Amino acid sequence: MSSASPESLDQLLEIQELDKSIAALRHQKNTLAERESIANLEEESSHLQKKKDLVSKELSSKEEDQQRLEDEVNAIDERVMEQEANLYSGEVSAIKDLQAIQGDIAGLQERKRLVEDQIIMVMEQLEPLKTLWDSLLIEEQSNTEQRNQLQATLKNNEENIDEQIENVAEERSGMTEDISPDLIEIYEKIRSRPGSIAVAQLSGRTCKGCHLDLPAVEVDRLKKLPADELINCEECGCILVR
Ligand SMILES: [Zn+2]
Repeated sequence: MSSASPESLDQLLEIQELDKSIAALRHQKNTLAERESIANLEEESSHLQKKKDLVSKELSSKEEDQQRLEDEVNAIDERVMEQEANLYSGEVSAIKDLQAIQGDIAGLQERKRLVEDQIIMVMEQLEPLKTLWDSLLIEEQSNTEQRNQLQATLKNNEENIDEQIENVAEERSGMTEDISPDLIEIYEKIRSRPGSIAVAQLSGRTCKGCHLDLPAVEVDRLKKLPADELINCEECGCILVR
């Protein structure tokens, strides 16, 4: 049977209060609201990235179309210039040949008008895509700014809590100096059990650790024990302070 003076048990109750504060602070740190908001923004950001990839692909495909059509217009222009040079070179004199060249030029110009119409169509399709692209960039920037802001707030809040934990831990280490290491060890062993508060007041017949009533016989037995004998609640295992 271990023993502990009533004073050291009272101190143990105080240490338990400090441990409760530390646990509450750790919980507070782990559940800071900013973390969830940041996760939501990160999810949004990855959706945005996918949208951007799609729009970017469509944009480059349309821009390639436009480039291809503009290249064709340039090729037609060159061909028309060549044919006009032939026409006015004086080297071709047969009416039939001259008419063939003129026909070719007319055909080329007709083709050019068609291609130019296609360019206008592609540009009209590009316009809303560019607008969408710009709005995605703005959305992305705002997402990044919000995330950075939340990260800073989160860091700040975490540091504040860490500081509070440090203060409580310091107070705690000052208190454990006066208690026998054996008792602290027993306390910490019980406390490591899930949900256990390790030390509790026995109030009348009720253990304040599990809020269950001890049998009257047990309470009688405990009363007869020496004051410094360490007793535990049979239900929850708590060290009982009587
Ligand atoms: Zn109990």
